Amino acid sequence: MKQYLTHPIFKCISEIITEKNWEAYVIGGFVRDLFLQRPSKDIDIVVIGSGIELAELTAKKLGNLKLTVFKNFGTAMIRYRDWEIEFVGARKESYQRHSRKPIVENGTLEDDQNRRDFTINALALSLHRDNYGELLDPFEGVTSLEQKIIRTPLDPLVTFSDDPLRMLRAIRFATQLGFKIEETTFDGIIQNKDRIHIVSKERIVDELNKMVMAPRPSIGFKLLEKTGLLEIIIPEMQALKGVDRVKGRAHKDNFYHTLEVLDRIAPNTENLWLRWATVFHDIAKPVTKRYDPKVGWTFHAHNFVGEKMVPKIFKRLKLPLNEKMKYVQKLVSLHMRPIVLSEDIVTDSAVRRLLFEAGDDIDDLMTLCEADITSKNPEKVTRYMRNFKVVRRKLKEIEEKDRIRNFQPPVSGEIIMETFDLKPCKIIGDLKSAIKEAILEGEIQNQFDDAYQYMLQQAEKLGLKPVKNLSNNKPA
Ligand code: ATP
Repeated sequence: MKQYLTHPIFKCISEIITEKNWEAYVIGGFVRDLFLQRPSKDIDIVVIGSGIELAELTAKKLGNLKLTVFKNFGTAMIRYRDWEIEFVGARKESYQRHSRKPIVENGTLEDDQNRRDFTINALALSLHRDNYGELLDPFEGVTSLEQKIIRTPLDPLVTFSDDPLRMLRAIRFATQLGFKIEETTFDGIIQNKDRIHIVSKERIVDELNKMVMAPRPSIGFKLLEKTGLLEIIIPEMQALKGVDRVKGRAHKDNFYHTLEVLDRIAPNTENLWLRWATVFHDIAKPVTKRYDPKVGWTFHAHNFVGEKMVPKIFKRLKLPLNEKMKYVQKLVSLHMRPIVLSEDIVTDSAVRRLLFEAGDDIDDLMTLCEADITSKNPEKVTRYMRNFKVVRRKLKEIEEKDRIRNFQPPVSGEIIMETFDLKPCKIIGDLKSAIKEAILEGEIQNQFDDAYQYMLQQAEKLGLKPVKNLSNNKPA
């Protein structure tokens, strides 16, 4: 493996440890990714001895680089160009039942490899000049890579019970790499699923985010479901699973439908929040489900109920409660609109309203809606896709003409107050909404002159008389 360790960092560490006659290894994710030919900029170095001391010597030799020391963890980190190198002393770990924080002692390379989560993450390459690049693979990690399997080095029951975060890491790696979780490892997860409670929400959500960003996120959610973890972490998603049947009429399984939409959207977006919006777009289907003898299964207002469910789920998962959440809510709430629109005659005013509500998120909404068409009926799919093309064309035309996307009222409250010599009051808001409605309905153009004249007409109906003519006060 020598030929892969050409980076000056490795040469530098090699010189230091050879001179001191220490042992040090590149270990973990970086070595795994070398075999998988996935470029990686994070390097973990394990040294038999003090990680901090080796880091200090390396930082000095590379030109007095800045060193960040985490004394409590006995680790240190250097950034070299866009590389991040972490140094740690080889350690042996033992766990207590209530915590995923181990008791740590100094150990050998073997101890250190034993504490790693998966065989593919326990590979080490020596940096000593005498055996530079030699692979130390005590658990047949390379075979696991070839066979595309995730397996724990030691007894999975112990590995997962010690640190239950590893269960999610197993599922996340399986999702990112398209690997299978080996059977006893998989059973180990099932048996330890309840221990996920000792893992912090932040760590859980980190893993979920990585899973959601994988090329095929459905792999992860199916594994979460099969192991019983989904029920614990996101019970609302678990509730999507299953099909009810009344008088021979069944609805589609909304869990698998959601996952299909998620896989369909993945190649079209690297936006984590658009992907989460996809995960939650039908989240309220179980709670809004009714059987109507005339029309069959309905999920009335599931988009609005879903919009309201999002904050609760975000809060529980410790996802951010800021504009990202609002964006997800907006897409969940609007996800039916383009479909409804495309089923009808696509009127300009309906398109204008959609543009007004979606604003700059209109393209993401259309991407979600197109992915949402998972019908097995090819005629239906062709029809929807054709209609969506019409919607997209109209959106473009109307946006060019009316600039509704970032709608700003063309006549301001100040102008209204000055024209009629009014103090702030409800009438001003009413006049502004009347103008907005007239623009959305296409009665007037989205521009100052039209809006000012329209405002005068509406005010007259309310018995207001202008005291000033500001029709030339068009904003710059
Ligand atoms: P990624 O960068 O995609 O998260 P990685 O494998 O580099 O992948 P890190 O979290 O940086 O992940 O961990 C580096 C290495 O530390 C892993 O390859 C593994 O050997 C070890 N490791 C990390 N977390 C755990 C854990 N919870 N239990 C055991 N070993 C772990």
